[in-house]
Amino acid sequence: MTCDCEKRVFNFSAGPAVLPVSVLKEAQRDLVCYPGAGASVMELSHRGKVIDGIIKEAEARLRRLLNLPEQDHVMFLQGGATTQFSMVPMNFLGENGASYMEQGTWSKKAMAEAKRVGKVDLVWSGKESGYDHLPKDGEYQVDPNSSYLHITSNETIHGIEFHRVPASNGVPIVCDASSDFLSHPIDFSKYGMIYAGAQKNCGPAGVTIVVMADSFYQKLIPSETRPIMMNYKTHVENKSLYNTCPVFSIYMVGLVLKWLEEEIGGLDKIYELNKKKAALVYEAIDSSNGFCRPHAAKEDRSIMNVTWRLPSEDLEKKFVQEAEAAGMIGLKGHRSVGGLRASIYNALPYEGVERLVELMADFQRRNG
Ligand SMILES: *Cc1c(COP(=O)(O)O)cnc(C)c1O
Repeated sequence: MTCDCEKRVFNFSAGPAVLPVSVLKEAQRDLVCYPGAGASVMELSHRGKVIDGIIKEAEARLRRLLNLPEQDHVMFLQGGATTQFSMVPMNFLGENGASYMEQGTWSKKAMAEAKRVGKVDLVWSGKESGYDHLPKDGEYQVDPNSSYLHITSNETIHGIEFHRVPASNGVPIVCDASSDFLSHPIDFSKYGMIYAGAQKNCGPAGVTIVVMADSFYQKLIPSETRPIMMNYKTHVENKSLYNTCPVFSIYMVGLVLKWLEEEIGGLDKIYELNKKKAALVYEAIDSSNGFCRPHAAKEDRSIMNVTWRLPSEDLEKKFVQEAEAAGMIGLKGHRSVGGLRASIYNALPYEGVERLVELMADFQRRNG
């Protein structure tokens, strides 16, 4: 059996999501026999030389892409971003509580987990307007004694994204960047910690990337009762190898990082490309004379997840069907908000977006 690449469609799914074809091909080539190892990546000990090299290289590439200072920490963990919702408060939420921004479904879930651990200070909520925008600095207050401020850089479901690092009154920022990590340059010195499930923009499901400033790590609350796998100290001290790490997922993330560095040319380059793709879709929405109704406020529009409605649910259903027939999948909006959503992550080719806006215009001509 050979690869049927010409049968690949444009995948607008929110996650697990599209991966670069060159990455998939390289993985396919090495799947049965990793060069020099005589076995698949999946068959090798996580404590052996080959895997050690793969993990170290992935970490080195990530450090280069983020300009990460040597003392800061990179971890490859399991349990998805959702496990981070629990781990963050378990390790860092102190007597004065932590601050949370309620920007949509994901931040709400993160906040619910923090409430199990201790005091949560809700600094801002976008609930009333259906999570269609984000606050400006000055529209919210962060208690300077807070353990941390939790934000979600990109709310995947609603399609709203911070295009700046929000003000935090000196409090360390913990950021869930699951759906926009590595889509733009990041000034990590402004964060205490960033975490991201890999399956949206960085690789396959099964691994969660955690980047933590050492200054934040030093604030970790010691505990004898915290389960060992839920303790960041375990993973920092054992370099993500306390137990069997998700070897194959880390290998895939390594290939995606190589693609980003060597084929794309880094975060500045991918950011340009992502902005160009997003502009094309938003332009199609804005020039539709109200046929397409965007969910997100203009200034907070996500460049990763574009959300909009059509005049009726029937038309939305029909659009999704026609898109599938035209080689585009994953355009149905999340069940909690409905409508349509185009996830246009790093690996979604520009041609995919061109085909999408072509269908949008044609569909409107026939149904508008
Ligand atoms: C998908 C997503 C999550 C959940 O990730 P899992 O890895 O499935 O736990 C959390 N936060 C954001 C912003 C997401 O997009």
